[in-house]
Amino acid sequence: MKDVKTIALIAHDSKKQEIVEWALKNKATLKNYELCGTGTTSKRISEATGLSVKGFLSGPLGGDQQIGAKVAEGDIDLVVFLCDPLSAQPHDPDVKALLRIANVYNVPIATNLATADFVISSPSFMKG
Ligand code: PGA
Repeated sequence: MKDVKTIALIAHDSKKQEIVEWALKNKATLKNYELCGTGTTSKRISEATGLSVKGFLSGPLGGDQQIGAKVAEGDIDLVVFLCDPLSAQPHDPDVKALLRIANVYNVPIATNLATADFVISSPSFMKG
């Protein structure tokens, strides 16, 4: 069991500003975790917050799949995945696969800000 939990951060293009603002708001909490994310999202968050965020490939180029593999390997404790429900995504199969694999392994996956806020402030996530 790892001492420090890992949070994966992903946002579709129309949601990138939201995830950056969420990360800034929760910076004091997020600094207690290992962070990773898809290419562009991780870069944006890292630049805005100064937090270290390990970057995988960009989502459409395989980043969602890389994070899905980490979920399957037990290396991710929470996924914050701000999906755009109003636009078609070229990598929709990868998006679905990530949602599916998080459900297979019972890993919390927040697909909107309201859920992300609940999970990050939950005592059961913080201590669990
Ligand atoms: P990105 O990928 O952070 O590299 O833009 C996110 C996505 O669209 O899945």
